[in-house]
Order: sequence, then C-alpha cells, then structure tokens
Amino acid sequence: MAGEPQNDCLFCRIVAGEIPATIVRETETTVAFRDINPQAPTHVLVIPKAHYENAAELAAGAPRIAADVLAETKAVADAEGLDSYRLVFNTGSGAGQTVWHAHAHVLGGRGLQWPPG
Ligand code: ADP
Repeated sequence: MAGEPQNDCLFCRIVAGEIPATIVRETETTVAFRDINPQAPTHVLVIPKAHYENAAELAAGAPRIAADVLAETKAVADAEGLDSYRLVFNTGSGAGQTVWHAHAHVLGGRGLQWPPG
C-alpha cells in the first residue's frame, strides 16, 4: 500500500537502519544521506520515510510530506554552504530513475550545465 515500508526497497531499508548510509539530516518525515556514487562535490538524496514510488506518487498521495522533502532540500543546501545547486527528481525509467522510492537529488559545489542529458 502507498506509504507503507517495502521489504525489497533499498531506501526503505536505509530508513529502517538495515543498510548503512551517510545520513546528513533527519526529520520526522524525511531522511537526507550522501549518494553512494556522487556526481558533484555535494550530492545528497532527500527521501520521504514513507514509501512512494516516485515524486509524482508522493505529490499525489502525501502532498504535505512532499513539501517536507522540498523544505529539507533547502536545509541540506544551507548546511552544505551552497548558494547555487540543482534539484532533480528522476521520475520513471525513461528519465533515468533506478530506485523506486521517491528521492530528490541535491547537486552542487561545481558548475552545472543546462540542458541535462
Ligand atoms: P540514477 O541511478 O539514474 O541516478 P535515480 O534518480 O533513481 O537514478 O537515483 C538513484 C540514486 O541512488 C543514484 O544516484 C545512486 O547512486 C543512489 N544510490 C544507490 N544505492 C545507494 C546507497 N546504498 N546509498 C546511497 N545512494 C545510493
């Protein structure tokens, strides 16, 4: 069911503390941790603790938690000392999503090109 933890979900297992991660911030509804394969000097993922497949499902199913995720991206950027940064929600396999638990990438600390690939 939407929002319930999934045993086979990598990020649910990070939320549960079953898989290690470098956690940088945690709130009642969110966790932020460093990406294992960073694409920039700062590359942090902000996720809802509740399981939603992607940003669209999160926005539709739990808009207040979606707002919490967005607020946490700013908190991460502030904590990392970033004044310019990029937020990415890859949504669907065609957009490169590989982990099916909603997450915001916070990328910064270097120049970023536009458009992305
Ligand atoms: P993509 O793999 O194309 O970036 P996503 O937007 O679904 O697709 O992002 C998943 C992200 O999760 C990747 O950046 C990947 O490096 C990261 N990741 C995968 N496993 C872990 C892990 N155990 N700890 C931290 N980050 C992870």
